[in-house]
Amino acid sequence: MREYPKGTSSMQIALSISEGLARNVLSAKVNGEVWDASRPIENDATVQLLTWNDTDGKAVFWHSSAHLMAEALEALYPGTKFGIGPALENGFYYDVDFGGKEFSQENFKAIEDKMLELAKQKNDYQREAISKEKAIAYFKEKGDEYKLDLLEGLEDGKITFYKQGNFTDLCRGPHIPNTGFVKAVKLLNVAGAYWRGDEKNKMLTRIYGITFPKAKELEEYLHMLEEAKKRDHRKLGKELELFAFSEKVGMGLPLWLPKGAMLRERLESFLKRAQVKAGYQPVVTPHIGSKQLYVTSGHWEKYGADSFQAIKTPNEGEEFMLKPMNCPHHCEIYKTRPRSYKELPLRLAEFGTVYRYEQSGELHGLTRVRGFTQDDAHIFCRPDQVKEEFCKVIDLVLFVFKSLGFENYTAQISLPDPNKKEKYIGEAAQWEEASNAIIEAAAEKGLKTVTELGEAAFYGPKLDFMVKDAIGRSWQLGTIQVDYQLPNRFELEYIGADNQKHRPVMIHRAPFGSMERFIAVLIEHCAGNFPLWLSPDQIAILPISEKFHDYAEKIQNELMAIDIRGLLDSRDEKIGRKIRDAEVRKIPYMLIVGEKEQEENKVSVRKHGQGDLGSISLNEFISLFNKEISTSM
Ligand SMILES: [Zn+2]
Ligand SMILES: [Zn+2]
Repeated sequence: MREYPKGTSSMQIALSISEGLARNVLSAKVNGEVWDASRPIENDATVQLLTWNDTDGKAVFWHSSAHLMAEALEALYPGTKFGIGPALENGFYYDVDFGGKEFSQENFKAIEDKMLELAKQKNDYQREAISKEKAIAYFKEKGDEYKLDLLEGLEDGKITFYKQGNFTDLCRGPHIPNTGFVKAVKLLNVAGAYWRGDEKNKMLTRIYGITFPKAKELEEYLHMLEEAKKRDHRKLGKELELFAFSEKVGMGLPLWLPKGAMLRERLESFLKRAQVKAGYQPVVTPHIGSKQLYVTSGHWEKYGADSFQAIKTPNEGEEFMLKPMNCPHHCEIYKTRPRSYKELPLRLAEFGTVYRYEQSGELHGLTRVRGFTQDDAHIFCRPDQVKEEFCKVIDLVLFVFKSLGFENYTAQISLPDPNKKEKYIGEAAQWEEASNAIIEAAAEKGLKTVTELGEAAFYGPKLDFMVKDAIGRSWQLGTIQVDYQLPNRFELEYIGADNQKHRPVMIHRAPFGSMERFIAVLIEHCAGNFPLWLSPDQIAILPISEKFHDYAEKIQNELMAIDIRGLLDSRDEKIGRKIRDAEVRKIPYMLIVGEKEQEENKVSVRKHGQGDLGSISLNEFISLFNKEISTSM
């Protein structure tokens, strides 16, 4: 709690704390809204200073960089017209109309140089409130029909311009203090984009770029992009023969090939074992459900128009939906008989396949698909059990992360926006109880957390896990959500100790999120070098020539009998070629057998990425193998 005179800006607050802090302040969150750091605060407010370390801080930085790029474009290509220039998760773009002038990546260097030159001038981003009439007059004179089009939808009295150097843009902001914060620039891509996304409109040129406050960060980012290309799960999925897509089957519907299916099954049984230990009970429900089920759940009303359309039967009026979520089915399982408080929590788990219609342009490998399997479970519990259940789910999620080598994660606690209570259903007391339960559970488990107000679902607060992969990218994986809505809609009840009817709380949770997305992230995280226990092929047996096939087969059978999986490369190829191929397929161990090995009843072992481990007996290899598995799980 600090006191300042009316009209003090966030930047002045930062300065009053320390100059070092002020140098890093990009903008500020004032009562939950992101503002220019220079904007005067007129009333009591909660103020959060935003730096490069905040997602919102980065967004302001990148959006301001879009203005900087526009300024450079206007200087280099006079007469350029501008559409919109938003920040992205990484970087920014601006849609521009060069009026028919040729434009390609060859022009990038000149624009980057110009941007850096303008950045050095440290021009302030100046906010100016302007009347609609004056704003229209400005862009009429400039001849920018896109800004005029945007202005049409804006309300007089709420329009602002932002000006830096010689460039003025129609924008609601906010922006960083001045262009000097931008120290490194890279334009990344150029593509066509219809104005307002409508193909009836003119095609504009979309230029993508990214900027940083330090040159070193740009270098690191470019290195990461290179690495990401090598690790792209779509590329590795093909090379390792894990999954494929077929136009005939349909877009966004992955086909799991034998090796991918094996990987998936291993992951499933790993989690199933952990879940049984944690008191979950498996259930199985169909892939479709009557439309009425989704009318009750509310999905029909909220998503019906944008999802796969109803399946009709020969009976008039009979309609089914492809299952978009497993929860409604599980609610009906809960309702199959009366429940007592003594049997709660009831934990119903299902690897349930769901179908959601995504626009074809949104589809991406395994991370955005139209059919996917959730490692879903629903916990039905009493309100006083929410915290303990949360703790248990956190334990499970962390066990999964540890077993799969995700060591760097944070948890986001998503709470309701205290100023928009009308957005949320359920009683205030319940919300508070559940929010506290999540906060306490996360603290008890020692999680590194960030709290976001206003990010809760309308039906309850939640906890999301953000995982950093081996090359520093963040992915949202596991999620745990409290839900007050579905128990109401399905009128779920239990008989309490007081012999009265009560409503249970429902917790949705999925440690992986979905099998498809999780495997995509896992592939990119470990670059296809799966932990030994998970590898589809754990070993490759490579006979030096046909003479040793019998011995190789004997070894394969012995290993298969104790559940060590692998292939026997019986092709008539040179051993060097067989080794290379096994390396490309990232098979963890190669067992090479020739005359000497057969005579001594041994195998020559090569480890992927490490090379020759020498010749040992099969039993020695098995204990080496088992040791590696037991230390990684
Ligand atoms: Zn702007
Ligand atoms: Zn659910």
